[in-house]
Amino acid sequence: MISRMKTQVQCSGYFCGISVTQVLFFMALMVATVFSGAAARGQSSAQSSAQSSAQNAALAQQVEAIYPEAQMLYLDLHEHPELSGHETRTAEIMAGKLRALGYEVTEHVGGTGVVAILKNGAGPVVMLRTELDALPVTEETGLPYASKVTAKDDSGRSVGVMHACGHDVHMATLFGTAAVMAKTKDTWHGTLMLVGQPAEEVIRGAKAMVDDGLFTKFPRPDVGVALHDENGIAVGQVGVTPGYSKAAADSLRITVYGKGGHGARPESTIDPVVMAASIVVRLQSIISREIHPGDAAVITVGYIQAGTKNNIIPDHAEMGLTVRSYTPEVRQHLLAAIERVAKAEAMASGADKMPTVEHYESTGAVYNDTKLTQHEEAVLASVVGKNNVVHEPPLMTSEDWAVYVEQGIPGFYYTLGVADPQKLAAAHASHKELPSNHSPLFAPVYQPALHTGIATEVSILRDLLKGSSADVKKVTEEKQTGN
Ligand SMILES: [Zn+2]
Ligand SMILES: [Zn+2]
Repeated sequence: MISRMKTQVQCSGYFCGISVTQVLFFMALMVATVFSGAAARGQSSAQSSAQSSAQNAALAQQVEAIYPEAQMLYLDLHEHPELSGHETRTAEIMAGKLRALGYEVTEHVGGTGVVAILKNGAGPVVMLRTELDALPVTEETGLPYASKVTAKDDSGRSVGVMHACGHDVHMATLFGTAAVMAKTKDTWHGTLMLVGQPAEEVIRGAKAMVDDGLFTKFPRPDVGVALHDENGIAVGQVGVTPGYSKAAADSLRITVYGKGGHGARPESTIDPVVMAASIVVRLQSIISREIHPGDAAVITVGYIQAGTKNNIIPDHAEMGLTVRSYTPEVRQHLLAAIERVAKAEAMASGADKMPTVEHYESTGAVYNDTKLTQHEEAVLASVVGKNNVVHEPPLMTSEDWAVYVEQGIPGFYYTLGVADPQKLAAAHASHKELPSNHSPLFAPVYQPALHTGIATEVSILRDLLKGSSADVKKVTEEKQTGN
């Protein structure tokens, strides 16, 4: 009852006012007429179209059967978000639901991480991952199921907590997918490995799970799949980015040391504020003068802290940097150049003590296996229609999915549209953006999004969970980024 009422509030897009069954029927019909992935495999288009249509109609029914439970899970998770590394309730609920579906579930992997395995005969091992964590954001959507949760963050401050990145969409989708896969074991074979990863927002969870034996205590995946929701794409659409899709991120803390004294007697001091200011300006010339104009790179100084009073020259200053790049070569160049600039500016200022550069947080770039992406793009098109697969440009934001790819697991990380199509079109018409992920106003149109999420995940998994590991290798790049 409650969830139906909530659904109506949320549903303001083109699916509004029609039932879920109608939506799915419409989707299946649209797909059958728009595109058939099987056509690419050389069958006659009439044959493959009929086959695709029948498959999509069956899939639509399977999604429909699990949808009410997936929606209840979504609303529950949305109302009970938990901060990174503290996802105890979330993990427990996910573990319980997957166990009830017949998965072999292990909890507390790399903290609150969950691993759920479903073995179904010989075949490849395919990993599907969701994140578990929410953000320190106070929800302002005004939705009836909005989060009212507050919690203490790791520094002891009281903060609002919200699933402002849509990880609740990912979890409910993964649950729906898990259910469909468990109930249709005749449509695939191999080993399905579901991963509930904690602490993605602080880029720590993937590493913690790998360090805790994700790929040694459990079957090592031949390939990994994940999705992320996105408010820049309409519901019903998905986005793909072959190659680098998200950047490597390095967090640096630079402390420069001067000599404190009276603000009116600069000649008796070495001013760390001037030193820090020079470093900030000089750092930008690394991007503009040292990096190839065709290579993407960002250096942002997010904070400078120094001093206490206007007429006192402090003895040190601290700067916080985020450094973004795609390729390992550019990344190494940036990190070395930042250290060089910091030292050189300290020398230029006549400092007695050289700066310290602490590299306290990092993750690699998200690389989508180009061959796999091309292959799965056709699978996605067969589900949502070719016109609903959007090619997205790479972004300089980051995500610790990179950790799995760095372990040598070829990855396919795609985007799930969650925007109300009418609101999105209106925003674009006035050259505006809808509230993005991490905004207190982020409000995915969850009902159709969950349908598309489950249908696409199931289709990708069925596509990969057939044949053997060798068959999976055939649809991935020959050279893997091993470590
Ligand atoms: Zn996210
Ligand atoms: Zn996020």
